[in-house]
Order: sequence, then structure tokens, then C-alpha cells
Amino acid sequence: MSLTELYLGVDLGRSTRTAIVDGDGRVHSLGREPSRLESANDLVDGLVEFVNRTIRDTSGIGTIRSIGFGLPGLVEHPSNRVVMLPNLADVSEIDVAGLLSSATSLPVVLDNDANAAAYGEWRCGAAKGRSDFIYITLGTGIGAGIVQGGQLQRGARGFAGEFGHLKVTAQGLECGCGSSGCLETIASGPNIVRRTRERLFSDPAYSYSALAEKMRGRLTCEDVVEGAVSGDRLARAILAETGLFLGMTIANVVNLMNIELVVLGGPVMRDNDVLLDAVIHEARRRAFGPSFEACEIASSALGDDAGVIGAAIMARDAIHGSLDVAGRP
Ligand SMILES: [Zn+2]
Repeated sequence: MSLTELYLGVDLGRSTRTAIVDGDGRVHSLGREPSRLESANDLVDGLVEFVNRTIRDTSGIGTIRSIGFGLPGLVEHPSNRVVMLPNLADVSEIDVAGLLSSATSLPVVLDNDANAAAYGEWRCGAAKGRSDFIYITLGTGIGAGIVQGGQLQRGARGFAGEFGHLKVTAQGLECGCGSSGCLETIASGPNIVRRTRERLFSDPAYSYSALAEKMRGRLTCEDVVEGAVSGDRLARAILAETGLFLGMTIANVVNLMNIELVVLGGPVMRDNDVLLDAVIHEARRRAFGPSFEACEIASSALGDDAGVIGAAIMARDAIHGSLDVAGRP
């Protein structure tokens, strides 16, 4: 009896996540554990160990044919190397995909995590059947994957889609990328929390906000989103401002690319219709009318699993030749 052919998706962030999917894209299992962030070598060692354990645990239900691997950095497409991984560790001297491939004896498809998530939404989520869209993920960082003319767009060296590092102000804060004034310094999860804390300290009008009580513990972005949904004035003001910057930047993309769909995903967008509505309001106000009318703005269908499921589906399609992958002539 031949065992089911399976594909392993890996999504590296502050946690490492795994997904096992079959040839039809059905998800068999999901896994997650904290990443080892002490050094680049620890990060890679922890990753290899977790992946090998996941493969062993899967041996009873099928055979893994290939691995798709997404991470939040610049992945050079022709060479299959990570050039920058700003929020985690400097792995630019390590051939991460090559190491993972030799440690598992499996082919590894490496890509930016937002590209992987865009691919997941494209093949089995909110962008299924579309050919011109952008997927934007909002979490610790902000990234995007772009599909135009039915092709994932990577640019000249694979670095396209850095939506979070579009400049939205000339006088902004320093960003993890080394520049300043990036959208990420305003609209990422940690920066939504930072702005909420600053507003609580600086504006006495908000001292009665329920979020002031949360400040005694650890205020999170989920607290701000929950506050906004339940009508907290401060939380709503912070998300309205976040929506203004995001919607303005999306209007630029709509005008520039005439896309038919914007998919918003990542942990910041989870159960966050307040932010989605603010983004749509601002994008409508700022984009060309006909371009905006041709474009839908929607929430992700796969949610936080888009990246890891997308990575697994990339692994499947690369094996079957329907995805152009790094390292392939
Ligand atoms: Zn930046």
C-alpha cells in the first residue's frame, strides 16, 4: 500500500509553525513552538530539530515529499539565500535552505513569509481564482505578496513586496530595516501598542479608558482591538489613525497597480472589523474613484495559518512544476 503524499510547510517567526497538507491542499496537522532566538546558529538548530521531529511524527500517516519554508526577511530568489532577517537574527552567512534540505534529505522551497501567505490565500483562500491582487500581513512586522497577471511578483532579485517599509512620513521613527518613516513604525502590532501607551500618558482625556487598567500588566495589540470592538474611545481613536495610514498607503498601491483585490491578514487583523472599515474608508477617499471601484478590500480567509499553509502548498506545486522556485534555472 502506498502512503499518502504529504507536504510540510514551515513558517519561521518568533514562533516556528508547521503544517502538513496533502496533495489536495487539505491540512492534516498544525504545530507550533517558540523559536530559539539566542543566536543565528541556535535559530537554525532549533528549526532543524523541530522539522525533523515533525517529519518523524508524520511517518504513520504518509510520506513527506518536500518542504516549503517561509521567513520574514529578504530572500534572494536566484541564489535561494536569506539576505536580511531584520526582526530575528542575522542568518545571511548561513545557507538555511541547504542545511534544512541536507538535514531532512528533502527538497526545500524557500520564500518570504508574506509571499507564502499570499500563495496560500491565492490557492485556497480569499484570493482563489484572482490574478491581480496584493496580500498584506500585519503582525510584528508588515509584509506583502503581490500577484499580477497570474504570477507571483518577486522583482529583480526576489525582494519585492516590502509594503511595511513604504515611507509614510518624512519625520518618522527609526525602523528595524535601518531607514525611518516606514508604515511599519506606525501600523505594526508592537507600534499600535506603543502609540496606545504614549496616548495614555500624554492625553488626560483618555485616562478613563479601560486600556489604562491593562497598562498595569502587559498591554497587547489584542487588548486594543478588543477595546475598539467594545467601544473604547482610545482604542477606536488608535485604530482609526492606524486605518488612516494603512488606507492611504493602500490607495497608493490601488492607483499604482490597478489591482482587483487587497487581502488583509496577520494577527493584527484578527477579528478586527474596526480597522478593516477604517482602511476601506480612507482608501476610498484617497484612490482614484474608478480604480477603487474595481478593487475589493477583504479580510484573509486563512487567518494566521496563511503563511504556513501557503508554504506547504508552495512545496507541493514546486514538486509538480507549477511554481517557479528559487534555485531552479
Ligand atoms: Zn522600514
